[in-house]
Amino acid sequence: MARTQIEAARDGTITDAMERVAERENRDPEFVREQVAEGQAVIPANVNHDALDPMIIGREFATKVNANIGNSETTSDLETELEKLHTAVHYGADTVMDLGTGSDLDEIREAHIEHSPVPIGTVPLYEAVKQAGSPEAITPELLLEIIEKQARQGVDYMTIHAGILAEHLPLTDGRKTGIVSRGGSIMASWMEEHGEQNPLFQVYDEICEIFAEHDVTFSLGDSLRPGSLADACDEAQYAELDTLGELTRRAWEYDVQVMVEGPGHVPMHKVAENVERQQAVCDGAPFYVLGPLVTDVAPGYDHITSAIGAAMAAQAGAAMLCYVTPKEHLGLPDEEDVRDGLAAYRIAAHAGDVGNERPGARDWDDALSEARYEFDWRRQFALALDPDRARDYHDQTLPEDNYKDARFCSMCGAEFCSMRIDQDAREDGEMASLTDGRDGTDLESSPAAEVNRPPVGTHDSDGLSAVGDEPTGVEQPGDD
Ligand code: SF4
Repeated sequence: MARTQIEAARDGTITDAMERVAERENRDPEFVREQVAEGQAVIPANVNHDALDPMIIGREFATKVNANIGNSETTSDLETELEKLHTAVHYGADTVMDLGTGSDLDEIREAHIEHSPVPIGTVPLYEAVKQAGSPEAITPELLLEIIEKQARQGVDYMTIHAGILAEHLPLTDGRKTGIVSRGGSIMASWMEEHGEQNPLFQVYDEICEIFAEHDVTFSLGDSLRPGSLADACDEAQYAELDTLGELTRRAWEYDVQVMVEGPGHVPMHKVAENVERQQAVCDGAPFYVLGPLVTDVAPGYDHITSAIGAAMAAQAGAAMLCYVTPKEHLGLPDEEDVRDGLAAYRIAAHAGDVGNERPGARDWDDALSEARYEFDWRRQFALALDPDRARDYHDQTLPEDNYKDARFCSMCGAEFCSMRIDQDAREDGEMASLTDGRDGTDLESSPAAEVNRPPVGTHDSDGLSAVGDEPTGVEQPGDD
C-alpha cells in the first residue's frame, strides 16, 4: 500500500484526499492525481493527522495562505496556543506553522494537530536548538530524533534548512543584511563552529525515509533569502536555490512530496524572475513565498509592502503565500495584526487567482459588485473578505438599520451618490438598462464557491469552536 500521496498518485491511485481536494477546488480528481504524481502540487497530509480536511498547494490551484503561530519564552499555556490556532483559521489561514520556542512544545504541538482541520507545519530545527542549548551543540542524530518525533506526532510539513551549504557562506560576505533567515543563521553558525557541512544536508536521505513513512511534506527552507532589496537575486540566494532543486529531485526519488520556500525582500521588477527561476530550477515544485516585500522603507506597514509582492508572485506562479503582519521587523503581532495580515494576504492570493483566470475565481468579485450596485448592503457585507470590518466601517457613520436599505452611503452622500444617479437616469429611460435580464452571479453553484467563500470561518471545526468563539490569539513574526 502506498505510504504517501505522491506514491499513490504515481501508482495511478486517486486517494480519498485527492477526491476531497478535487471537490474543494472544483477540479477533476484525475487532474489532481496527475499534478501530485508529477510533483507540481502537494497535499500535506500526515497519516497521523486525523482532524485534517485535505487541501492542495500547487500553481494550478487556488493560491493558499499560511499564518505563523507559536509560543515564546514568555507566553506558554495550552489554551492560549489553541486560541492562536483558532484565530488564524478563523481569519482564513489555509495552513498554520507552529513556530513555538517556549515550553511544553510537545503538548502544544499535539493539541494543535488534534484540533486543526488545516495542515500544521513546523521548523524542527528550533526544537533542536532549544533541546541542545545552543546552535553549536546540535548534532545530526538529535535533528533526526526530533524530526522523527514530530513526524510521529502528525506534523504535515516541515521546513528543512538543508540547502545552505558551507561553500555558500562566503557568498554572503558583501551583503547589506547578511543572513536573515532564523534557520539559515543557525545552520551557518553551526558550520562555522564545526568546520563541517550542514548537518541537515548530511542526513537528508534519512529525513526522506522518515518523511516517506509518515507522509510528511518537505518545505525546503531558503536560508539565504534576501533580507533587503540590495541583496535580492544575488549569487548566494541563487546558489542555494540550485541546491534546493537537487534536494527536490532527491526527495521525489523517495516518493516524498516537496515544496520550496522563497524570499523575502525583492523589488517589483524582479518578483516574476524569482518565481520563474524557482519553477525552472525545481522542476515545477510548488513555490511557497514569504511576501516578498517590495520596498524596505515601511516598517509598520509591511503587510502592505509584502502583499504587493505576494500578489505579483501569485500571478507569476507561486502556490502559497506566508503572511506578514504590520508588526514585521518590529515586534510580536497581536490579534488585530493577525487579522490585518491575513486580510492582506487573502487579497493578494485572490488577486493572483483572478489575474490567472482560475476557474470561477472572479465570481466572488462579480457577486459583490452586483450587491454593491443594488445597494444590498447586508449581502455586500456578507460577501466581503472581512464581513465584520466592512459592516463596522459602514456603521461608524450610518449605524441605524434603515440605512441598510439606503441608496447611498456617507462617502458621497445621498445627493452625489453616483450609482444612485446612474440608476435613476437608467430608470428614467435616458440610458439603456444594463440590468434588465441580468441573471446575477450565482456564487453558490460557482466553481469558486468552496475555495473562495465564505471569507472567514470556513474551516471552523467543532474542536476549534470549543476553544472559544472569539479569537484572541497572537502569533510570531514571519521569519522562519
Ligand atoms: S455614496 Fe458613493 S461610495 Fe457610497 S454607495 Fe454611493 S457611489 Fe458608492
